[in-house]
This record gives sequence, structure tokens and C-alpha cells, in this order.
Amino acid sequence: RPLLVPVRLERARYDVQIGADMIRRAGARLAPLLPQKRVMIVTDENVAALHLPTLLAGLEETGIRHGTITVPPGEGSKTLAEYGRVTGELLAAGVERGTTVLALGGGVVGDLAGFAAATTLRGLPFVQVPTTLLSQVDSSVGGKTGINTPYGKNLLGAFHQPISVLVDTTALTTLPAREIRAGYAEILKSGLLGDADLFEWCDLHGQAVLDGDSAMQAEAIRRACAFKAAVVADDEREERKANGRALLNLGHTFGHALEAELGYDGRLLHGEGVSIGLRLAFMLSVRLGYCPQADLDRVSAHLERLDMPARISDTGEEFSAATLIRHMQRDKKMRDGRLSFVLVRGIGKAFTCRDVPDDAVAAVLRADG
Ligand code: NAD
Ligand code: ZN
Repeated sequence: RPLLVPVRLERARYDVQIGADMIRRAGARLAPLLPQKRVMIVTDENVAALHLPTLLAGLEETGIRHGTITVPPGEGSKTLAEYGRVTGELLAAGVERGTTVLALGGGVVGDLAGFAAATTLRGLPFVQVPTTLLSQVDSSVGGKTGINTPYGKNLLGAFHQPISVLVDTTALTTLPAREIRAGYAEILKSGLLGDADLFEWCDLHGQAVLDGDSAMQAEAIRRACAFKAAVVADDEREERKANGRALLNLGHTFGHALEAELGYDGRLLHGEGVSIGLRLAFMLSVRLGYCPQADLDRVSAHLERLDMPARISDTGEEFSAATLIRHMQRDKKMRDGRLSFVLVRGIGKAFTCRDVPDDAVAAVLRADG
């Protein structure tokens, strides 16, 4: 029996269903929910080779008609060009208002397919079958879809809520260990920003999650999705300035600066930047007098014990504090010339701080670099 996370929003109600073999069972799970017994699958080449035949077998058993659109793997597919090709193929296939777009893949496929679903015929039903740990805990709740532009990441997009999300822990058996760790960083983030129980759970069971224990993975995903669902329900369209969804950026200002400095070239995965960024956010919070040193020590010990990226030097690259701060100043979280950060008063107690002095940030970066 899958674990269920109910997502209850103003304009959408759906469940995230989490368990083993969900891709094989997708046909049976979806049949009662689809407006029309027809889906258009969007996937990438890697995931198609590993998991598409399993999905197709289940769809065929339940008499759901299907077509497949495959994109190259990686962030490079979140472009206007691929969006044009995917929407073109949907229209060429003669989709109707009730035809469901099904994203089978990581966050890249989910964002691209979701944006195509949001805009084709002014909105087609959408189902997510996320296959990376990161997309299972992050993209599966929240309804954000979109693509990148030369002006920045995720700048074209829409909120488009899925009618269902199926999370398959079996898919994680083919995911590289580095990608598992990157996804785990986002689970840890949820605990550290607002769910101290989740952090305690991670401290007890995080190693099992990383080691591929599927029951523990399902439980970690359930807890992270439930936490995110509560935050999103409270701030569905990201309108609250200080709290709400903004807190989900804990660790991200630092993480984005590291990613941006490396030019998003794959040397550092997003979740790896977040893992390091979480510790830096705690260090900054201690330095500014908001957070007890003991909480920072617990976070550091946890990351170290699980062999998670924790220090800037763990990237194997060198960074200057000044360059990283320039990236942060360019980040959209900057307001009126002051750096805005999500900080903590302790584990599970995040808040937004609007005027963080540069020199405190620089000192933390130097202490860690
Ligand atoms: P990804 O989709 O690029 O997947 C990472 C790699 O793993 C790819 O090469 C993919 O082909 C491969 N892969 C996927 N599933 C696999 C499996 N089961 N076995 C083996 N290989 C597999 O990256 P990601 O980390 O999943 O997602 C990152 C993207 O998600 C970013 O573009 C980010 O902006 C977006 N994102 C969106 C949201 C949201 O709320 N919409 C939230 C977080 C991240
Ligand atoms: Zn993130």
C-alpha cells in the first residue's frame, strides 16, 4: 500500500502516492483519475531507457492510450527550443482538453512537461512521476513549472498543479549515489527550516535513506512532501514576502552563488550546493547571534557522519568571497542594496532577515573556504 500525502490547495486537491513499483502500477493508479483514457508521456533519454517499458506495460494493461515525447537529459532541455518541440509534438499528436501530460523523469522533465501542459490548449491535465529523489521531495508539491532563458533560470513559467503525483522508490535503485545525496539535502533542508522532528528522524535514519532502504526512503519522502505541502498550502502563489514559501530557500542563497560561479556546468549538483549552503546559513546565523553554536554543531556532525558535502572545499574548487557575494547581490533576493537571507534561530526555526551585512557573509565564507 502506498503512503499518501494529501495536498489541499485553493484550486487543486490531489494526493502524492509514495511506494515501491509505482511506475509499474501507474496505469491502475491513474485510470480512475484521468478525464480521458489517453496520456502523452514526456521523458528524457536516460529515464526512457530505464523505466519507460515498465510504465507502458502498466498503461496497456489498463487500456490507457499513450504517446511518448523524449528529450535529451539534463538542464539543457529546459529551453524555449525544447519547449517548442514538445508543445509542437503534443499538438501534432492531436491532444484534446482531456488528454493528460505525464512527466516521467527528474525535475528537468517535470518543469518542462509541466510548462507544456500548463500552456497547451490553455492547460492540459498533468501527472508527475518524478524519478530523482530531488524531484520526488521538491517538484512534486508546489505546482511550479518552467524553463530557463538567457536572462536567468526558471524565468518563463506557470503555476500548474498536477492531478496526481506517483513517487516510485524503485526508480531510485537506478539513480547514481551522488544524485541521491543531492536529493537528501532538500529533505534535510525541510527539517532544518521548520520541522525539527524531521531533522531528528533524519539523524536516526538518514544513513538508511542514503543506503537505499526503500521503506525508509518512502518515509523520508512522505515527511518532506507533507512538510512542503503545508508550507505551500499557506502561500500557494508565493505572495508572502517574509515567511511562507520564501523559507524554502534556506541554504539556497549560498548554494546558488556556488552553482552560478561554476557556470551550472555539472561540477556541482544543485543539492550539493544546498548541502553546503545549509551549513553556511547556520554559521551565518550563529555569527549574527541568532542561533546557538550547539545547533550548528549538530548540523555539521550530521553532514559529516553521512558524508554529505559540508564545506566549500568539498566542491574541490576555489572561490573568492567577493565573487560569491557579487552573485548573491545579483540574485533576486536582494532588496534595496541589502542582502536578504533565510536564517535560523535554531534547528527547525527559520526566518527571513532582510539586512545582512556583507562583511558577516564574507567572514563566514572565509571561515569555511
Ligand atoms: P534532472 O531532471 O536533470 O535529473 C538528473 C539526472 O538523473 C538526469 O541525467 C536524468 O536523466 C537522470 N535520472 C533521472 N531519474 C533517474 C533514475 N531513476 N535513474 C537514473 N537516472 C535518472 O535533475 P533533478 O535534480 O531531478 O531536477 C533538477 C531540476 O528540477 C532543475 O531544473 C530545477 O530547477 C528543477 N526543480 C524544480 C522544482 C519545482 O518545484 N518545480 C523544485 C526543485 C527543482
Ligand atoms: Zn533546491
